[in-house]
Amino acid sequence: MGDRIERIATWLIDSPIRSARSHGSGHVKRSVRRVIVAIHTADGLLGWGEAAPWAPFGNTAETALAALRHVLVPVLVGGDARRIASRMADCAGAIAGHSDAKAAVEMALWDIAGKRVGAPVSDLFGGLVRETIPLSFSIADPDFAADLARARQMYAGGHRIFKVKTGFLDQAEDMRRLEALRDALPWMDLRVDYNQGLAPHDALRVLRAVERVAPTFIEQPVPRGQEAVMARLAAALDTPVLADESVTSPEEMLRAVREGYADSVSIKLMKSGGLLAARAIDAIAAAAGVPSYGGTLWEGGIALAAAAHLLGSLPNCTLGCEFYMPSYALVQDIVPDVLRAGGGVIHVPAGPGLGVTVDMDVLAAQAVVGD
Ligand code: MG
Repeated sequence: MGDRIERIATWLIDSPIRSARSHGSGHVKRSVRRVIVAIHTADGLLGWGEAAPWAPFGNTAETALAALRHVLVPVLVGGDARRIASRMADCAGAIAGHSDAKAAVEMALWDIAGKRVGAPVSDLFGGLVRETIPLSFSIADPDFAADLARARQMYAGGHRIFKVKTGFLDQAEDMRRLEALRDALPWMDLRVDYNQGLAPHDALRVLRAVERVAPTFIEQPVPRGQEAVMARLAAALDTPVLADESVTSPEEMLRAVREGYADSVSIKLMKSGGLLAARAIDAIAAAAGVPSYGGTLWEGGIALAAAAHLLGSLPNCTLGCEFYMPSYALVQDIVPDVLRAGGGVIHVPAGPGLGVTVDMDVLAAQAVVGD
């Protein structure tokens, strides 16, 4: 059987980033660790996947690698690569959690499926409804002056969407930064992401002040688990509240709709554990009038190409994406920059499959644990 999964290779890589990033934990990032997956079929097809771990959910690159090598690879080898839903059911049955490792497996299987028929993955999801996706850049450099200069330069080049990481400095400093950005670029599409950073008892007072800078949305103001507070905030504020950490699965999206704590939602393959579950989240959101947004967890070109193929085919994904890592943050990705960010958008790659080609020399150079 030619479509049988014959072999799966895995690497843990460490990729330097161009400028320091701080996204709320107080920790400043200078490189990102990811896991790369290559699935080989018996008839010679090769699919690529990538896991970008999310520490707040208990995932690291090391745990993703261990889950793949010790649990997922053994249940996948020998299976039919065409039967993606069945392979993902095998993964779900083998181990709970590890959504990042599972996402890497699923995108590699879609890469193979596209290559098998010579079509981009977006065609397999119904075809593109947009050729490009508006791009958000995250203001998260501990050196705010550097970020402000970068934002001015990007705006001059056509970039319009910026997301500020708030809640890890005191509120006065957050307001100073938000007001400086709004003053500098009055027509920018300004978004705010608290990464769960506000104290629930105090959040409404803080956010009423933030509404003065007219943000497009306020992302995950309070911690996951505080959904009752988030529902009250969504009801009290004029600004839409976007659920990120609070919605990781179709079941949680359904609950968010029922309980009213998501005016909009961030879709991330690393949260949902793959494209099929991400599409289910978007379908529930769309039915409830809740638009979706393409979020990211430090992924590079492989994972973001997979997300771009999916989100480019979803009419409800109207809030753009933050897939800026390959073009603006990584010093060098292991794939050439297929998203071709510029002018405030990314381009959905043309296939076949995910449309990515891995540079094996760069992969070898960045590998901390090789195949
Ligand atoms: Mg977020």
